[in-house]
Amino acid sequence: MRQETLAVHAGRASDPATGAVTPPIHLSTTFERAPDGSFPGGHVYTRTTNPNRAELEDALAALEGGAAAAAFASGTAAIMTVMQALAPGDHVLVANDAYHGTGRLLRETFVPWGLRVTFVDLTDLAAVRAALTPETRLLWTETPSNPLLKVTDLAAVAALAHEAGALCACDNTLATPILQQPLRLGMDLVMHSTTKYLGGHSDVLGGAVVVREDGPFFAKVRRIQVSGGAVPSPFDCWLVLRGIRTLPYRMRAHAENAKKVADYLSEHPAVEAVHYPGLATHPGHEIALRQMTLPGGMLSMQVHGGQEAAMRVAARVQLFTRATSLGGPESLIEHRASIEGPGSTTPENLLRLSIGLEHPDDLIEDLAQALGDLTPLAPSPARR
Ligand SMILES: *Cc1c(COP(=O)(O)O)cnc(C)c1O
Repeated sequence: MRQETLAVHAGRASDPATGAVTPPIHLSTTFERAPDGSFPGGHVYTRTTNPNRAELEDALAALEGGAAAAAFASGTAAIMTVMQALAPGDHVLVANDAYHGTGRLLRETFVPWGLRVTFVDLTDLAAVRAALTPETRLLWTETPSNPLLKVTDLAAVAALAHEAGALCACDNTLATPILQQPLRLGMDLVMHSTTKYLGGHSDVLGGAVVVREDGPFFAKVRRIQVSGGAVPSPFDCWLVLRGIRTLPYRMRAHAENAKKVADYLSEHPAVEAVHYPGLATHPGHEIALRQMTLPGGMLSMQVHGGQEAAMRVAARVQLFTRATSLGGPESLIEHRASIEGPGSTTPENLLRLSIGLEHPDDLIEDLAQALGDLTPLAPSPARR
């Protein structure tokens, strides 16, 4: 079945009790046993399994072409669970431009816990080969990355990781299974912040791990999910699944709009650089064409005039909303370095844009007026 059809039907069945076409939300935390002690519905207690979570996990596995999925209360809880499924002393190779929260979690929690972590530029295959050791248990990629939209060759790093006997995982949040299917490119695990495009409406926090094989590593992930309890609520599962139903069409529109905005910005004299894998000038463009169906809805730009100019553009937008996060219908603009805080390596003049589902010409008009008199630099306008 094709992605559009899977997105609509995966994890779906009319409710046998009522005929409801849209799934009911099962808030019950506990499920009744039959007189013989069995559980006729297959569920015991909601931390362990819940009908809404099972529907969501089925859909996630189907969309990624995986064997199984585990849903979590947040993307970060999903990352945390993968790391907890390793053992102290294990070595992990992590993309040096992975989501800043991933780096922080590893440095603050998992290094003291005993993981040995090396951050490496995964777009440099020689550096990847040099950093892999016989103790490397996991290679963690994220592509396109955040906020520089760097592109990692998933098939190439998977081959290197497997040669060294390591598992490899991809944070697929920015691409979603509609634009990129890491498991089919050789990755063993896919992780999502379903808070972003999968939920798709900026109204639910969630995460997921999807695996190519339902083997011993996933059994550990499942044990930690169930016994650790960082599970999403039934309503959260319902919201993410509702978001998934329209995901293929939303991703197409996000990508189409982002390409138009990126083309416009690359011609603008106030803009120093545009980072978008859909531009022929992007260093990862060729790989993106090979491993993605479309280059996605996220881009970033660096403006002339440093942090002050970047803050001024963010202050002037009327239609874009100044906020962190991504993947909702509304376009967001964010000064990334100040959100990431001390230690951030993001350029001070960079703005990250989550391109939403508005008409692209309205988005371009808003950026045009916000960038307008940046060349030559005008004094800071006092507004808002
Ligand atoms: C948001 C995000 C996360 C973290 O997910 P939460 O749901 O906020 O915990 C991880 N990776 C990427 C790429 C993200 O954008």
